[in-house]
Amino acid sequence: MNPTETADAIVIGLGAFGSATAWQLARRGARVVGIDRFTPPHPHGSTHGETRITRLAVGEGAVYVPLVKRSHEIWAELEAMANGRSLHLRTGGIVIGAAGGGGQLHGKADFVQRTIDLGRAYGIPHEVLRGQDITRRFPQFVTSGDELAYYEPDSGVLRPEACVAAQLEEARRHGADLRLGETVLALERSGSGVSVRTDRATYAAAQVIVTAGAWIPGLVGGEYASRLKVMRQVLLWFRPSEPALYESRHCPVFIWTHGAGDEDMLYGFPMMVAQGDVKVAAEQFRDTTDPDRVDRTVTQADQRAVFDAHIAGRLRGMSAECTRTATCLYTVSPDGGFVIDRHPTLENVTVVSACSGHGFKHSAALGEQLALRALGEGTSVDWQAFGLTRP
Ligand SMILES: Cc1cc2nc3c(=O)[nH]c(=O)nc-3n(C[C@H](O)[C@H](O)[C@H](O)COP(=O)(O)OP(=O)(O)OC[C@H]3O[C@@H](n4cnc5c(N)ncnc54)[C@H](O)[C@@H]3O)c2cc1C
Repeated sequence: MNPTETADAIVIGLGAFGSATAWQLARRGARVVGIDRFTPPHPHGSTHGETRITRLAVGEGAVYVPLVKRSHEIWAELEAMANGRSLHLRTGGIVIGAAGGGGQLHGKADFVQRTIDLGRAYGIPHEVLRGQDITRRFPQFVTSGDELAYYEPDSGVLRPEACVAAQLEEARRHGADLRLGETVLALERSGSGVSVRTDRATYAAAQVIVTAGAWIPGLVGGEYASRLKVMRQVLLWFRPSEPALYESRHCPVFIWTHGAGDEDMLYGFPMMVAQGDVKVAAEQFRDTTDPDRVDRTVTQADQRAVFDAHIAGRLRGMSAECTRTATCLYTVSPDGGFVIDRHPTLENVTVVSACSGHGFKHSAALGEQLALRALGEGTSVDWQAFGLTRP
């Protein structure tokens, strides 16, 4: 093999994690090649649909709290560089669960209580609300009386497409060579580094970071293929019958675990424009898919099923009229945590994901840490917590 190009690092996939990593490498002076099969931001992977929730007391685990805190600093820095483009909107956020039962999320039971405990442990400003107090404070949410909620004023909305675009612009400004519409076909050992073969060329680098999202199981294979599952998720936008309730100055981002099962939940956002629609979604963990063959059709029956199972009787002033839909992919690990680990056979290759449906809020900080790690500098992440074969 005669690699035709060389770099210090190659980043494969330029979505949430790849765009962050490419920028953080390039701004440190590394020669970076970034490759993506599409032109990010795009609607084929896991980083589209206008909005993502960010929250500081992440009930998924303490290991994530420093990441989201640092990510907020990076988004603010990026926003200042992005010519007034809004990346992050602080709306406040509420996590509601049934007290004393139910309420698991992303593989973690008692999600609301875990969130409260982390808020306390990390000194994150928050309030604990119960039952009717939730509805008195936020009349959008119709409670039955025994709910427990965590409200965090610093939670809010991230705009994923704008974040990816801003990071890629910065990466380019710092000299990163971004190859878009080019598909990586194989990774191989090359001297002390790695060669990356695409449908157009072969590149070589000392370090490779694979941030290919839902395509990781297919591209990397081995235990990544057997342990990670790609799940199709549906996003829906509904028309509120009482729009004032869903203005961003009145309505926090919300997650509501209303039963004991991992699919007994809904989450949503305030309207992102005046007189707009409200994005609400649930999660499914039964059906797996292939990222190249996703069924992108969302039928009226699908829309109605989400409304009936999750929205009816819980969101006041919300009509069943669905204005828009989208589909998006989760790449899910067995315990619902992240997987960030070495390639099964190639030493200098780091594989990043699965982010199991909660990765975006951490992506800016993880990009920074991955860049430091690739450059052989110190990092502050407990990488073992994200090992592929952790118990
Ligand atoms: C419906 C939905 C809701 C979510 N809600 C939240 C939320 O509220 N808060 C939160 O924090 N997180 C949330 N997440 C999770 C978060 O959005 C994801 O964890 C994150 O965006 C994943 O980013 P990624 O970089 O791993 O994947 P992607 O952004 O999909 O990037 C992977 C990239 O790799 C490229 N690629 C793949 N294969 C190849 C190849 N062979 N050659 C070249 N390029 C390749 C793809 O084109 C793609 O651009 C949600 C996810 C979904 C789907």
